[in-house]
Amino acid sequence: MRNFSASKKLFQRALHLIPGGVNSPVRAFRAVGGNPLFIERAKGSKIYDVDGNSYIDYVLSWGPMILGHAHPAVVKALKNAVMKGTSYGAPTALEIELAELVLKVYPSMDKVRMVNSGTEATMSAIRAARGFTGRDKIIKFEGCYHGHADGLLVKAGSGAATFGLPDSPGVPKSYARNTLTLPYNDITALKSMIEKEWRSIACVIIEPVVGNIGCVLPKQGFLETLRKLTKKHGIVLIFDEVMTGFRVSFGGAQAYYGIKPDMTCLGKVIGGGLPVGAYGGKKEIMSMISPEGPVYQAGTLSGNPLAMTAGIETIRELSKQGIYSQLEKKSEMLEKGLIDAAKRAGATTRFYRAGSMFCTYFTATDVVDYKTAKTADAEKFSRFFSQMLDKGVNLAPSQFEAGFISLAHSEKDIDLTVKAAFEALKNI
Ligand SMILES: *Cc1c(COP(=O)(O)O)cnc(C)c1O
Repeated sequence: MRNFSASKKLFQRALHLIPGGVNSPVRAFRAVGGNPLFIERAKGSKIYDVDGNSYIDYVLSWGPMILGHAHPAVVKALKNAVMKGTSYGAPTALEIELAELVLKVYPSMDKVRMVNSGTEATMSAIRAARGFTGRDKIIKFEGCYHGHADGLLVKAGSGAATFGLPDSPGVPKSYARNTLTLPYNDITALKSMIEKEWRSIACVIIEPVVGNIGCVLPKQGFLETLRKLTKKHGIVLIFDEVMTGFRVSFGGAQAYYGIKPDMTCLGKVIGGGLPVGAYGGKKEIMSMISPEGPVYQAGTLSGNPLAMTAGIETIRELSKQGIYSQLEKKSEMLEKGLIDAAKRAGATTRFYRAGSMFCTYFTATDVVDYKTAKTADAEKFSRFFSQMLDKGVNLAPSQFEAGFISLAHSEKDIDLTVKAAFEALKNI
């Protein structure tokens, strides 16, 4: 067994100072038992804890590190940038550069505003949609996570799903009343709600591939129907691509599935490991945003030069020829390996993947929404998780989170992962 004593010690200290010892709930390992690892450093596909253990990392900071940790081009650019000062509260050319890169890859957006997190991106996009339509209600889907803003913590995914707290105390009923929820992938329910309620609905927000209850793919026709109905009734369609952006494909899920949303939220990968979010969309909606229009949204550190630099370098690397086919090859290899390992070990699982995000569910049921995701055996997952960790593979500490692969993962990493998975699956 690996030694985790230094991590344990730090966690005991953290528990006195920080709620649950962590600054974001799913980091705490509550769903899988044990103590969280305290990390000292990371490089490429590997992450190193304070006890000197190394792991092949499939968490990747919950998505952003698509190039691998401490990518040399990003590190070099950041070193140069930091020497010039870390924040000015005034515009820079870097903001234009990142905006140009993003708008080129996401042609559904005419304009984009930089913020500091995915949470800020979704809450600001919804405010813009409400300002634009003059309507109050929003529709979201069960199990989709759009950050922790009040009105979005209704039947949310990620930690909320992991801990079985789909609705958070502290959210006024009057806020939650404006959030209507629907099961993901249910075209009939979608049609009936929109036909009935459209007059009061400002927007529909959706993870086009649901990464916050594992990895749930849209059924054929679901996103298409959603696009058609929202267009017909003047409802703003917001794709929350904070996770899927630059992940499912370079152009995100919207390019992969060929659907043009009215607004898009980005985060994670566009910050290259620094805190960045962005929201954008059609001209007529984005011109509602202050100071061009009356919808207020601001940020002291928004467009921060270090964050912009990491984002620019990351997207530049990603835009090089052949990068996404490399990533696809690695992802496919991992997919085949994990499916085959489960088969050989006699484990009943369902595997899903979209680009370089994936999930293995411990269930015999096809996973198409929140309800079917919840059929997965979380206890079995937690035994699998602990064994994988002991064998040097770092997975997200919950059955209901996606795994990610980076360009830094080698064939050897993937081989070792598949071997570890086979051994672990045999013993759970
Ligand atoms: C991570 C995530 C968010 C929230 O982003 P933060 O940067 O954690 O605030 C929102 N939407 C989706 C789809 C996400 O995966």
